[in-house]
Amino acid sequence: MRTVVVIGGVAGGMSAAARLRRLDPSARIVVVEQGSEVSFANCGLPYFLSGEIANRSDLLLRTPESLAATLGLEVRVDTLATAIDPAAREVTVRGPEGREERIGYDALVLAPGAYAVRPPIPGIDHPRVRTLRTVPDADTIRGWVQQGAARAVVLGAGFIGLEAAEALRHAGLDVSIVEAAPHVLPVIDAELAAYVADELHTHGVDVHEGVAARAILDVEGTPVVELADGTVLPADLVILSVGVRPRSELAAAAGLALTEQGAIIVDDDQRTSDPHIWAVGDATASTHAITGAVAPVALATPANRGGRVAADSIAGGGGRRSPRPLGTAVVRVFDLTIAMTGASRRSLGDRPFHTVRVHAGHHAGYYPGAETMHLLLHFDGEGRILGAQGVGREGVDKRIDVIATAARGGLRVDDLVDLDLSYAPPFGAAKDPVMMLGMIADNVLSGRLTQHDPVGPLDPETTLVLDVRNPGEWGAEPRRMGPRTHRGRDARAAARRRGVDRGDPAGRGRSAHRRSLRVGVPLLPGQPHAGRRGYRQRQRVRRLHDARDRPTSTRRLPPDLPGQRDDQRHHGQQHERRQERQPQWQHDCHAQPGGRELHLLQLSGAQVGGGGT
Ligand SMILES: Cc1cc2nc3c(=O)[nH]c(=O)nc-3n(C[C@H](O)[C@H](O)[C@H](O)COP(=O)(O)OP(=O)(O)OC[C@H]3O[C@@H](n4cnc5c(N)ncnc54)[C@H](O)[C@@H]3O)c2cc1C
Repeated sequence: MRTVVVIGGVAGGMSAAARLRRLDPSARIVVVEQGSEVSFANCGLPYFLSGEIANRSDLLLRTPESLAATLGLEVRVDTLATAIDPAAREVTVRGPEGREERIGYDALVLAPGAYAVRPPIPGIDHPRVRTLRTVPDADTIRGWVQQGAARAVVLGAGFIGLEAAEALRHAGLDVSIVEAAPHVLPVIDAELAAYVADELHTHGVDVHEGVAARAILDVEGTPVVELADGTVLPADLVILSVGVRPRSELAAAAGLALTEQGAIIVDDDQRTSDPHIWAVGDATASTHAITGAVAPVALATPANRGGRVAADSIAGGGGRRSPRPLGTAVVRVFDLTIAMTGASRRSLGDRPFHTVRVHAGHHAGYYPGAETMHLLLHFDGEGRILGAQGVGREGVDKRIDVIATAARGGLRVDDLVDLDLSYAPPFGAAKDPVMMLGMIADNVLSGRLTQHDPVGPLDPETTLVLDVRNPGEWGAEPRRMGPRTHRGRDARAAARRRGVDRGDPAGRGRSAHRRSLRVGVPLLPGQPHAGRRGYRQRQRVRRLHDARDRPTSTRRLPPDLPGQRDDQRHHGQQHERRQERQPQWQHDCHAQPGGRELHLLQLSGAQVGGGGT
């Protein structure tokens, strides 16, 4: 009978242990977990914080007792693995009473996960600063909320930071979120991240982008976050969510090969540099399928899959091997879904690539309730899918998953046109947005459509932004801007009942937008504009101005102005017809003769092509 020891009893570790039991009924399988819970739903913690998951017990998927009864696993909680002796094949563990013990193994699986990064800023150890990684973390934060905490600052606007901000807002707190990168959700491109920032504002979250926290001061027991730009944010609690780093000190001490950043190097069987030790999950490095970057992909799916692969390998090989991850991920931010797969513009670096965009309804536009989604697709000159991202209220996850599947299957962008996707009006469109991305990409690859992406900030001296909307388009709201008192879906529904939602002429967002945009008014910094007073307008100007990080969809028009106007009129007519549905704004940059760029603010969201079905 062989003994397999697993260090870490959550995503990757528990997947490995459970799979191994099925493959080897006679093995002794010992799972060592330093925390009091195993197999808990860490991805569910934000929803426990918000109260959407009401019962703490719902997060605890299995207990040591149930795992012993159903799978015959020996699960030791409150037990820390403190050392590995690869030569003797022994792990040293320290149990709840502090007693040390050495456990021999034939195979060892490391699934210790990651540490939350703690930036070296003064005051980071303030007792009201907490990460959100474990059930006790969530218990503590919920306790503070129940005791009357009213203000929260979330440091870091990645997945967990955004989920935490949403959860605390749902719970009724005033929330500020601080992101040192130029925009929230830095893993996606800036142009789509702008929608996320808008959504946060809409729901009353105070967003600070492009600025880091400098210190956390203590004012009579209350943490006060001081930002590098001098902003001071008093809080009753601070959530620290600025990234993770692999938890690999045991592996390092055991002499296993690590990357420079400290992630455990594994092969496609999840085996480390020691033939008797496997490693899975956030502590390990994978080679990204698109960029080739060797780094951890800290997501639950690769961790679970890695556990299964490691178990197959331990049980005798012949199983599936770990594919290179695409990093497919999805997150909800209030009413928005944001999803991505593959590489972002930033992670593609200097590599040449094309980008196409679609702004389309999530189902047939004539069927009630169509929600506009914004999709973009990066691909190379050979038509290889490099990455895709989407933002919208409905159907985004499905589209990104389709593209992720296509990318995994080696399909080219123009193959997306031929996908055999399901369609009925409540669910999609006969030309699904994914197929439309494929059609535009096909036009680019075949040379029928030439694109031009400006690189670097737009120069107001040489750039004119011309707003070409017609009066009907002018009155439409680009994106919703609700009152700060909104509290998530319930509040949104209430707002709808009050008639202040998008598209309502009496709505606040619409009138705010009317104030902020005028036909023919220049929008670039340095140019006077009545509407530049508001946040929304400043953001739009900034987005226009900062074109390096926020690429623009560009289409070269025939150099004659009449050709441009025709094109614009065509779009304008389409948009006018669709205005009652979900108008969205798109910024197009058109190369101009004479070195001047003409930036067009156009309503977008129209279906590409006709063919109502
Ligand atoms: C709040 C939150 C929300 C998330 N949401 C999502 C999501 O929506 N989608 C998604 O894909 N991913 C999400 N993730 C990420 C996902 O949970 C992780 O990628 C995944 O859990 C990693 O699995 P793992 O097995 O490597 O580590 P973990 O699941 O973190 O498990 C590691 C365990 O090892 C234990 N351990 C570490 N060292 C030792 C030691 N020396 N001795 C004993 N025990 C040890 C730790 O206590 C820990 O319980 C989320 C993570 C968090 C924290």
